Amino acid sequence: MDIFLDKALQKGVDVAPLGQVATYIPELAKGSVSDVGFALMDLDGHMYTRGQAEKNFTLQSITKVITLLLALEDLGKEKVFTHVHMEPTGDPFNSIMSFEVKNPEKPFNPMINAGAMVVTSLIKGETKEEKIRRILEFSGKLMGKEEVRFDQEVYLSEKETGHRNRSLAYFMKSTGIMKGDVEDILDLYFMQCSILGNCVDIACIGAVLASNGIHPITKERVVKKEHARIVKTIMTTCGMYDASGEFAVACGIPAKSGVGGGVLGAVPGRYGVGVFGPALDKKGNSIAGIEMLISLSKDLDFTIF
Ligand code: GLU
Repeated sequence: MDIFLDKALQKGVDVAPLGQVATYIPELAKGSVSDVGFALMDLDGHMYTRGQAEKNFTLQSITKVITLLLALEDLGKEKVFTHVHMEPTGDPFNSIMSFEVKNPEKPFNPMINAGAMVVTSLIKGETKEEKIRRILEFSGKLMGKEEVRFDQEVYLSEKETGHRNRSLAYFMKSTGIMKGDVEDILDLYFMQCSILGNCVDIACIGAVLASNGIHPITKERVVKKEHARIVKTIMTTCGMYDASGEFAVACGIPAKSGVGGGVLGAVPGRYGVGVFGPALDKKGNSIAGIEMLISLSKDLDFTIF
């Protein structure tokens, strides 16, 4: 096992300089290309780590997995999927043109920004404050942590520069898909994207999914088996932006990446995986993260296909 883990890290370290950190959210531009690491958690909670596995980063789009799980737990699948489809797009995660032209009545899936904002708007809570508190508490349950918080600087940076998300949200308000106060929903979405975690934390979320909703350490049920199944399926088809098909062929596991450089993976019945490397490829996936996942998949036979 050790030899495979070392090899995967080395592969990640080698390719990291070929990518670039995200700059469209100014705070993310501070990420360091040389930070690379991963964590693997088996379903008994044993952890294997390499490199910068405990360095915190903002989870960004990985939180779309968290909010989809919470919305499913809050409302059930029928209600959630009356507001969002479950189809891959083949378009960039923040595309507005394709959304308006192809399918304006509801967003394609909960892993793109439009779909995620709608899902976030559904989460129970009287106020924005109550909703974010519930999202943070639920994140803590999935990660097995007492306290989860969001990064204030990244949140403010996103709030200031999130013009594309603002247009998507107002477009959805104009068509009637987005209910409620748009600015509150955007604010909540920016806070959610700025949630902090590390490879160990996201490996733990992956392990909950890999074990059909049971927490690997406490052995408590965190989410319904069916909800874990739905989310893993949507991660497989839509989780890696418009490279989801290619990633399914190369690695073959449900995964979700974020522009902060993290990728959360679930190897059903076996492991949760968290990988990190802020340098991204052209589609917005961590270049080192993908390389490490593919290497681990080959050596440890991850693929579900
Ligand atoms: N906060 C980012 C945005 O909405 C998340 C994007 C991502 O990680 O894919 O643009």
